[in-house]
Amino acid sequence: MQFSRLRLNGFKSFVDPTDLVIADGLTGVVGPNGCGKSNLLEALRWVMGENRPTAMRGGGMEDVIFAGAASRPARNFAEVTLALDNTDRTAPAAFNDADALDVVRRITRDAGSAYKLNGRDVRARDVQMLFADASTGAHSPALVRQGQIAELINAKPQRRRRILEEAAGISGLYQRRHEAELK
Ligand code: ATP
Ligand code: MG
Repeated sequence: MQFSRLRLNGFKSFVDPTDLVIADGLTGVVGPNGCGKSNLLEALRWVMGENRPTAMRGGGMEDVIFAGAASRPARNFAEVTLALDNTDRTAPAAFNDADALDVVRRITRDAGSAYKLNGRDVRARDVQMLFADASTGAHSPALVRQGQIAELINAKPQRRRRILEEAAGISGLYQRRHEAELK
């Protein structure tokens, strides 16, 4: 399973629909300060189910919606689509019946987030599990934020263990065990 495209609409500074092809291998994003490089990585983490406003550098989840500029009014929603190539059929079993997967997350002011997987309504948990099992989740060490290395060094052992579990691809199992214990 590979990322193939990231589409943003009304997400942070990306007010106009923006389509990004993610090719094989290493992708570099270059641009002047404040042009939106970190916003792109946040969009990627957000569509995979990130729910901590602090990870989005905001006070609340609605802060990801384009807030307006001198010449443009604010938007009422933000939407990010992540297209995945699954021609190698390595997606987790529950999602493994298609060559391509389109994950869409949309947030509307006062109405919260909704997710779709190939056009079907799904829960946040379904999307989080898809990526947790594929070891690329919203909290995955594959995405390294500015300042995150220092955070990792200073982290408490329990937090560091979570990061290692996600890297090992077992955080989905951990979540399922937690849910089973609650039942
Ligand atoms: P640097 O090189 O300094 O790290 P960067 O390319 O990573 O910069 P970002 O932090 O991604 O830049 O983008 C910051 C820009 O995004 C700022 O201009 C900020 O005003 C804008 N921005 C953030 N959230 C919103 C929002 N909700 N609505 C509109 N603009 C936003
Ligand atoms: Mg940045």
